[in-house]
Amino acid sequence: MRLRNIKGSRENIQASKYVVQEYREQKGKWRELFGNDHPIHIEIGMGKGRFLMDMATLHPEINYVGIEKYSSVLLRGIQKQEELQLPNVMFIRMEAEYITEVFAKDEVDRIYLNFSDPWPKDRHAKRRLESREFLKRYNEILVPEGVVEFKTDNMDLFEFALEEVEPAGWKLRQWTKDLHHDPKMNAGNVMTEYEERFSSVGNPICKYVIYR
Ligand code: SAH
Repeated sequence: MRLRNIKGSRENIQASKYVVQEYREQKGKWRELFGNDHPIHIEIGMGKGRFLMDMATLHPEINYVGIEKYSSVLLRGIQKQEELQLPNVMFIRMEAEYITEVFAKDEVDRIYLNFSDPWPKDRHAKRRLESREFLKRYNEILVPEGVVEFKTDNMDLFEFALEEVEPAGWKLRQWTKDLHHDPKMNAGNVMTEYEERFSSVGNPICKYVIYR
């Protein structure tokens, strides 16, 4: 997701109490930041954060951290959170590649990847958030029973993601190439902004849940 550069978005982000500025210093101390020992779920590439905040509203017993690299997009999330003031939501503006510098071993209970950038060129495969390189990073921060949940309407990216699972040492728990017509996997599904947009024009939504 890219929005036109919004003037002052960096400054607004720096001033927001919902954005963790010194996020590397937070490593190993996220529970202290939230002031409780609830599980921590993160969404990497949260866009404007609609999914994250809907989930946080439904699950006050879970802490959510949204990661987004673009200031202009994140700003929309911050504005929403300033209205909602959910106590269990925080944001980080960062490039996800450095995720292991931000969360310690076993600090994260679940990772959501929703409508990740496809990086269609082969030479950019390592940048895909579902690549074995990224799965290795997730392995370092997730609790042993933790899962990664991924949704997309991009069939090529989904096929790639499925093929990365085993070589990376992960296992498939559930997957579907048509989530909205899979009663079991769709139960309790919370739609993301992109999911709503792409499913409304008829694109089937793919989803997997993986574990180690
Ligand atoms: N999850 C949202 C937005 C999907 S668009 C939804 O489903 O509606 C993908 C978002 O991920 C974009 O906003 C993009 O800036 C962000 N993103 C992609 N790669 C990223 C990375 N490596 N680190 C941080 N954010 C990333």
